[in-house]
Amino acid sequence: MNVRIIRSQCCGSGLCAEIAPDVFALDSKQKSTVIDSDGAEVEKLIEAAEACPCSAIIVEDDAGEQVAP
Ligand code: SF4
Repeated sequence: MNVRIIRSQCCGSGLCAEIAPDVFALDSKQKSTVIDSDGAEVEKLIEAAEACPCSAIIVEDDAGEQVAP
């Protein structure tokens, strides 16, 4: 599973880091970064992608197919 952030779309809500703090962290520019894509179960990654108010989180399977949001 792969998770990435579309940085230009991140509006810094911090929701992802609340849902999966071992995966996401806000940097000094208040943009989310992926610190460890294996830091949570896939269900949590999908939850974070669906909760992101700016649709900035993309979760893909190992074949590169988007699974969330
Ligand atoms: S939930 Fe979305 S908008 Fe909020 S910090 Fe995470 S990636 Fe950025």
